[in-house]
Amino acid sequence: MSSSVPTRADVMSLPSYVPGRSVPGAIKLASNEVPEGPLPSVAEAIARAAGDVNRYPDMGAWALVDRLASDLGVPADQVAVGCGSVSLCQQFVQAVCEPGQEALFAWRSFEAYPIITRVANATPVTVPLDAGHRHDLDAMLAAITPATRLVFVCNPNNPTGTAVRRDQLTRFLDAVPDDVLVVLDEAYREFVTDPDVPDGLGFVRSHPNVAVLRTFSKAYGLAGLRVGYAVGPEEVIKAVRKVYVAFSVNSLAQTAALASLDAADELLARCSDIVRERGRVRDALVAAGYPVPETEANFVWLPLGERTTEFAEHALQHKVVVRPFAGEGARVTIGTPEQNDTFLEAARTFPARE
Ligand code: PMP
Repeated sequence: MSSSVPTRADVMSLPSYVPGRSVPGAIKLASNEVPEGPLPSVAEAIARAAGDVNRYPDMGAWALVDRLASDLGVPADQVAVGCGSVSLCQQFVQAVCEPGQEALFAWRSFEAYPIITRVANATPVTVPLDAGHRHDLDAMLAAITPATRLVFVCNPNNPTGTAVRRDQLTRFLDAVPDDVLVVLDEAYREFVTDPDVPDGLGFVRSHPNVAVLRTFSKAYGLAGLRVGYAVGPEEVIKAVRKVYVAFSVNSLAQTAALASLDAADELLARCSDIVRERGRVRDALVAAGYPVPETEANFVWLPLGERTTEFAEHALQHKVVVRPFAGEGARVTIGTPEQNDTFLEAARTFPARE
């Protein structure tokens, strides 16, 4: 049945977000999830909270906000939680960009940025990564115009895993105009091991135009529950809360996030295992001839160019699902040692170009 209801042309022309595929019988290394399920203490907290789902959740997620504020040592009015940090990305654009104003980010980076920017009626402006697949902060600075209201710096960058260092970021933030919000998207912060990669919270304290985004989806293993948080200037956080879709952080997510903070030591120890595996996987890939950039996240980037799709198909024949970005490269999440071995076997047997 065809409908004569007109839809917004700008919405219809948006690219669709492409999630990592799940293929029955194959190992999914496509969405930067951690390989293990919730800890028993977290699963129990979720099960207990399930008994109350006839009630709406605490709309402000105040217990979680207060807990995060106290753990992070910031006032609660500088913290907002959202339905995944992707929701908070969109809320930031909605909160600071008037229609047509610009949100700037590197490319390639998190694929939601251009979509959420356009959904918020703002204009995405992209600056290519440098030849080493890293943010080119000088070029980003040069791309700031009077219409720029927001800059995303994804650190470490999805999908390349590369990270901006403290001195570069300090120079950049010192030079960005005071009325431009810089959102440091630290979805993978807990996997960072290089001490020169700064904790963005320090910049929230020193710069009144900086915000940090974090998530419970990655290191804390709650991707399916959808909860993330932002720390930023009080006025901006107030605006971010205004554009919140009512009750969008559900009660199971709030409970699970709190239980995960209680179990942070155990969960962060699991991250150390992933970091160890990350080094092993990258070394093996480099030894096999793949120019994989150094990564500070829980994934590796294989810049395969035109062979990307062929590589993803080859990996699938080996029962591994990777995340291809056609014509550019494949992003592969670090899994368990056995899963990584299966992937490495696929990578080693990918036929060299004739
Ligand atoms: N930022 C980055 C850089 C990401 O890679 C992701 C998830 N892929 C997100 C934000 C959003 O994560 P979530 O909505 O699950 O918190």
